[in-house]
Amino acid sequence: MKEKRILLIGTGGTIASEMGECGLKPELASAQLLRYIPDISDICTVDCLQLFSLDSTNIQPSHWIRIASAIRERYREYDGFVVSHGTDTMAYTAAALSYLIQGAQKPIVLTGAQKPIGFETTDSKQNLRDAFTVATSDMPGVMLAFNGKIIIGTRARKTRSKSFEAFSSINYPLLGMVQDGRIIRYIRPESRAVPQFYDTLDPKVALLKLVPGLHCSAAEYLLAQNNALIIESFGVGGLPAYEAGDYYEAVKNGLEAGKTVVMTTQVENEGSDLAVYHVGNSIKQNLPILEAYDMTTEAVTAKLMWILGQTTDPAWVKELFYTPIACDILAGV
Ligand code: ASP
Repeated sequence: MKEKRILLIGTGGTIASEMGECGLKPELASAQLLRYIPDISDICTVDCLQLFSLDSTNIQPSHWIRIASAIRERYREYDGFVVSHGTDTMAYTAAALSYLIQGAQKPIVLTGAQKPIGFETTDSKQNLRDAFTVATSDMPGVMLAFNGKIIIGTRARKTRSKSFEAFSSINYPLLGMVQDGRIIRYIRPESRAVPQFYDTLDPKVALLKLVPGLHCSAAEYLLAQNNALIIESFGVGGLPAYEAGDYYEAVKNGLEAGKTVVMTTQVENEGSDLAVYHVGNSIKQNLPILEAYDMTTEAVTAKLMWILGQTTDPAWVKELFYTPIACDILAGV
């Protein structure tokens, strides 16, 4: 059988960082990362592409488009793709790539590390090896390989800031595990013979996390500055009606000005259900807001950027928002 060809795309992150006077900074290019795992040549042929070298704190939607374009331009040449990336915003990048590259049959695997590859104790080498194992498999689409877990791109979240067990799959099972270089597969997501690539995002999407007492002028400001606002509310969801300022009016005005508003929850697991309580049901009945249900905030953010990059027609926005893409939404639709 022909040996698999994989493209390693470097973007920076801890995995590629070295210690400087001001802390860790991405310095190593993808070809230098590869030298730490020479045994990878036993399972595939690797080419390297360094797109940029950033702490992922600095990654923006324009970088997601660059990663997707790099994959699009080389999609036919390679059997799979590994994207090495900082962990802090990797879940956002994974979600964004899931919308920019839909239905890919080939594996597109993000990985990174909590400790740099040059450190004596590091998760970098194992995560990279695991990412190549997944990239050489027949698992389709955008995924994360991290600490042995394989997570679908729309469901990943960084849930630990320091330990190697950094990522969880939210409201969705793991796709599988990698153990000793072998994949134990639980789920196989759907794919198409030919993927659909997109190259437009609207970055004007804001997120407001409510805290008790936060004045609704915060929502008014964000709605004035952006085309969509995600409100992370409490529990299964609702909007405060403070005497000093009613969120209902702020949201209504934003919707009338043509903005998109999505309600979600700050509770990590099980999602929103606005219909349950009066504080949620009353807005759901009366205003054309959208609801995240079991989607992650990372996926809602990227999905809105993708949708608003295609259309501003509210009916289409709604239709696309509730259309499941890469298993991003299941419940309540
Ligand atoms: N700050 C780093 C980054 O996201 C953290 C990491 O990669 O783990 O680029």
